[in-house]
Amino acid sequence: ATQKTPGRAMLYTPDLEENIARSVQLRGGLHDALRNGDIQFHFQPQLALNSGALIGAEVLARWTFNGTPVSPGYFIPLAEKSGLISELTFQALRAVGRFVAKRKAQALPEIRVSLNLSVSDINQKEFIPQLLKNVRDADLTPATLQFEITESFAVHGASDALVAINKLKDAGFRLSLDDFGTGFSSLSYLDHLPIDEVKIDRSFVSPLQVVTARQSIAASTQTIADNLGLEVLAEGVETVEQHQILRFIGVKFVQGFLYGRPMTEADFMTWEQNWDMA
Ligand code: C2E
Ligand code: CA
Ligand code: CA
Ligand code: CA
Repeated sequence: ATQKTPGRAMLYTPDLEENIARSVQLRGGLHDALRNGDIQFHFQPQLALNSGALIGAEVLARWTFNGTPVSPGYFIPLAEKSGLISELTFQALRAVGRFVAKRKAQALPEIRVSLNLSVSDINQKEFIPQLLKNVRDADLTPATLQFEITESFAVHGASDALVAINKLKDAGFRLSLDDFGTGFSSLSYLDHLPIDEVKIDRSFVSPLQVVTARQSIAASTQTIADNLGLEVLAEGVETVEQHQILRFIGVKFVQGFLYGRPMTEADFMTWEQNWDMA
């Protein structure tokens, strides 16, 4: 009777109990953090590869729970599962509004901020009308805001998700296809989605080698995007070598630790003052 099947062993390990306890705790913590305004929003620069000009920023959520930072890779899915994601999305949007307004007040150049949307956002009733109301209240426009969606929006085909993104498109907003190549990568749907930009996922940027650059996924993405009239941004650029290969491939926009990490609004302004590509 002491012999356990692998399944049982997994079900009863104290580790898992701890994990469950922790996830219940985190769920409550996240709920409170959203209610109390404890989720922070950082901004990561996006640049034109050739000139080094700052062209945009991506807003990214940050959460510290009981003194320990929790990875967005963990709490975003938790927010999705717990019905909290749309509240997080609206808070991110308001953070973008404050960021853009502050830049305007300081006469800084106008840049476009990218906001991540989750497919689970769509599950919230009246999500798009509420989003657009928040956009208006925050004084944001298609010149100052774009939305990042993932391939999961596409595989939902003719569903609510596609209806939703078409509404954003109709309202004039640019759409960027995030994590490109990591999901149900059928290139055929690229043509059917109303997107303006493709983001090459970090996993295709980090292994870039000079010898294979031409055959890389990054290069073929750039070629297809050129044919479809889409812009390409490579994310996760960490080294000068990657930067140079992306330039060789013809990628025009970049984002990554090489240029700037996700930063608080204040740090972003300081970074911007000191930023010099050369
Ligand atoms: P993502 O949308 O692909 O965001 C880019 C992620 O890559 C960010 O991770 C960013 O910090 C990281 N990154 C940027 N440059 C580099 C680099 O050069 N090297 C490496 N190693 N990483 C880099 P982060 O902030 O941990 O977010 C992870 C994911 O969580 C995001 O991936 C996104 O899917 C989700 N997420 C974050 N904030 C939000 C949000 O406000 N709303 C939604 N819906 N999702 C969010
Ligand atoms: Ca993103
Ligand atoms: Ca991404
Ligand atoms: Ca991602």
